Amino acid sequence: MPMSDSKRGIRLFRRRNRDDLLERSFVECADCAQPVYVFAETCRGCGHAVELRAG
Ligand SMILES: [Zn+2]
Repeated sequence: MPMSDSKRGIRLFRRRNRDDLLERSFVECADCAQPVYVFAETCRGCGHAVELRAG
C-alpha cells in the first residue's frame, strides 16, 4: 500500500477509528515487548530488528 494513500485515509477517519488505527500501527517487540511502530525497522528501545507487517 502506498504511504500517501495510508496518510490520506487517516485524515478521513473519526477520532475513535483513528485511535484504533494507531493501536494497530504498533507491534510488540519480540525482544523487549515494547510497542514498535510497524514501519520502523528496529525497536527504539532495544534495537531489535522488527519484521515489517505492512502489506
Ligand atoms: Zn525491543
